Amino acid sequence: MRKRFKLLTPIVGGLACNARCPFCVAGMTPENGVTGKAQAPDLNAFAKVCAFAKTHHCDSLLLTSKGEPTLWPEQVLQYLKIQRAFDFKSVELQTNGIPIADRKIVTSQHLRQWREYGLKLIAISVVHYDAERNRQTYLPHRQAYIDLPALIAHLHSFGYAVRLAVVMLRGEIDSSAELQKMMDFARLNRVEQLTIRPVNKPDTSRDDEITSFVAANYLPDSAKAEIQAYLETAGTLVERLPWGGSVYDVGGQNVCLTNSLTKADENEDVGRQLIFLPDGRVSDDWQKEGVSLEAFAQAQKHQSNQ
Ligand code: SF4
Repeated sequence: MRKRFKLLTPIVGGLACNARCPFCVAGMTPENGVTGKAQAPDLNAFAKVCAFAKTHHCDSLLLTSKGEPTLWPEQVLQYLKIQRAFDFKSVELQTNGIPIADRKIVTSQHLRQWREYGLKLIAISVVHYDAERNRQTYLPHRQAYIDLPALIAHLHSFGYAVRLAVVMLRGEIDSSAELQKMMDFARLNRVEQLTIRPVNKPDTSRDDEITSFVAANYLPDSAKAEIQAYLETAGTLVERLPWGGSVYDVGGQNVCLTNSLTKADENEDVGRQLIFLPDGRVSDDWQKEGVSLEAFAQAQKHQSNQ
């Protein structure tokens, strides 16, 4: 039985996203009842899952989506209001940043309210420090990418810490030289956290086109090894994460090297995540269908008796 979960991950909104990433993980993993049109989350069930998470020593909450969570800023607020009673140490939101930068869907009022209800860090996914490279991946249908430095400054002005979550692809951030330029960008913009993770795909995927793209743009093992060796020599190891990631300090910039998708390991004491689906089901793996909290807890007990 898992005694602990590291992260509670509620799903905000539906499948819709304003970006067009060719490696979209959401497009590969099961829909799990999440549709293009967002259903209202079962907030009573969410409160029970928060309580379950806390009894399993989970202190971190990350609001994410099967699409782009900030397209539903009111749902973000609803989740934040519920979680507040449970005193999570870290409360974060994963986003492509576009609806916040556009300042139409996510207003200053939303940013103020989210902060007031406990959101501390906003993680923005990118593939590069160069705006045009990010445009080609995220917004090929627009003339320009968002002004990322302006977005980071905007978030800082509301009191948020910012993480840049870099998806590493062949030809993008794929070497220690490119990583150093990414770190320079992070330093220049006073980004509190930088996470790098090689693009990945689940064992089974429901979208062949995305799977083929990922297969063709995997970071070669030699590049991963070169980046890891650089971090180990140039940086100081700060923490090894239970699921295999490592956090380094490189000249005052923290860099976390981790994986995109981690399958639940039934034998580990510490589960990486507890995923909350809007209809009230939970799962510990993006690749699994969710079940009710009662069935999930029962399955945990059953495993411990085997
Ligand atoms: S921003 Fe996220 S959800 Fe949207 S297309 Fe990219 S990977 Fe998919």
